[in-house]
Amino acid sequence: ETSFDVYAIRQQFPVLNREVKGKPLVYFDNAATTQKPQVVIDALVNYYTGYNANIHRGIHTLAEEATAAFEATRDAIKEFVNAESREQIIFTKGTTEGINLVAQTWGRQNIQAGDEIIISNMEHHSNIVPWYILCQEKGAVLKVIPISDEGELDMEAFEKLLSPKTKLVSVVHVSNALGTINPVKTIIEKAHQVGALALVDGAQSTVHLDIDVQALGCDFFVFSSHKLYGPTGMGALYGKKDILEAMPVYQGGGEMIKEVYFDNIIYNDLPYKYEAGTPNIADAIAFKSALDFTKGIGKENIRQHENELLAYATAQLEAIPGLRIIGQAKQKISVISFVIDNVHPQDIGILLDNRGIAVRTGNHCAQPLMDRLCIRGTTRASFAMYNTKEEVDVLIAGLQKAIKLLA
Ligand code: PMP
Repeated sequence: ETSFDVYAIRQQFPVLNREVKGKPLVYFDNAATTQKPQVVIDALVNYYTGYNANIHRGIHTLAEEATAAFEATRDAIKEFVNAESREQIIFTKGTTEGINLVAQTWGRQNIQAGDEIIISNMEHHSNIVPWYILCQEKGAVLKVIPISDEGELDMEAFEKLLSPKTKLVSVVHVSNALGTINPVKTIIEKAHQVGALALVDGAQSTVHLDIDVQALGCDFFVFSSHKLYGPTGMGALYGKKDILEAMPVYQGGGEMIKEVYFDNIIYNDLPYKYEAGTPNIADAIAFKSALDFTKGIGKENIRQHENELLAYATAQLEAIPGLRIIGQAKQKISVISFVIDNVHPQDIGILLDNRGIAVRTGNHCAQPLMDRLCIRGTTRASFAMYNTKEEVDVLIAGLQKAIKLLA
C-alpha cells in the first residue's frame, strides 16, 4: 500500500474545484499542459510580493534573495535529471526554445552541405521545424525513422539510416500524440557509434518517467516546466559540458558577456553564456516548487496511479463500438488517442466540453504523424496525478452520449 491519496492531491490544485458549463471540471488535457498546485501559485505571488528584483547584478538584499531562489531552481533541475553539474542546465522558455537553441548554435557551427539529421515520424513540430530550417540553410538532409502501425519506431530501419553522414539524431522520448515510450538509450548508443550526437525531446517524458541524463548518455535533453505542474514560459536545456562550452553563443545581450568593447567581446561562462537578458525569474523560481511538489508525492507513486488510470480507461474505451485507439505501443505513458467511425474529433471535443470534460482534438502538432497513420486527427485524453477513475467514468458516459448524437 502506498500513501498516495488522489483526493488529498486534488485539494492542492485550486482550478480543479471549478465548474465548466455547470459541471465539475474533468481535466484530461494534461499532455498539453498540467494544472498548477497551490505551492507553485504561492511561489509566484511570494516573489512578486516579497522580493521582486533583477538577479545577478544587484548587491542589495532583494536582488540577493531573488538570485538565490532563481539559482536554487538550477540545482533542483540538475538533481531532477541527474546532470553532472549545475553549469550544464541552461534556462529556456521551454522545449521549443531548447531545440531551437541547439539548432542555431551547435547546428549552425557543425552542420554542412550533405550532412544528415535523423528525426522520427512521430515528432512534435518543434522537433521538425528547427531542423528543417537548418537543413534548408545548410543544404543538409533530414532523414525520418519510420514507425509501425502500432506507433512504435522501426529500429531496423533506423539502423539502416545511420551512416558517417549522420551528424545528429533528435528524437522524442515519449510521443505526445500516442504515448509511446521510445527506446532512447539504444537510439543514443547507435547514434554515437557513427559519431553523431543525440538530442532527446523530454517534453512529455519528464513528468512520467525517471530521467537520468548520464545513464541515457544523451548530448542534449530538453523539456518544459508547464508539463510538469510548473509555470509556462520556462524550461531547461541539458547538454554535455564540452559540447556546451564549444558551441557558439545564442542570443546576445546582458548577462551572457564578461567584457564588451566595440571591437572585442568576451563571453560569459556556462550556463550564463546562453542566458542573455533578464530571464523569467518568477516562473523559474516557481518551477522549483513544482519539482519539490512532485518529489514529495513520489514519481513512482504518481506513475502507478497514472498507469492504473490508463489501463482502466483503455479497457472501457476499447469496449465502445466503432472506437479505435491510435497508438498501441507496448511501452506507453498515460495518453490515449482515439478515433471514432464517422465522427469528427472536433465534434466530440465540443460535446465533451459541454459536459465539463477537457480533451484535446486535432493533429497534436504532429501533422506528419497523422499523415503516416492516414488520419486527420484524434481525440486525446491524457492523465495526470490528480485524475480519478470517477472522471474516466464521466468521460466514457460523455463519449457514449456524443456518439449517439453524432454517429
Ligand atoms: N515536444 C513534445 C513531445 C511536446 O509534447 C511539446 C508540447 N506539446 C513540445 C515538444 C513543445 O513544448 P513547448 O510548447 O513547451 O515548447
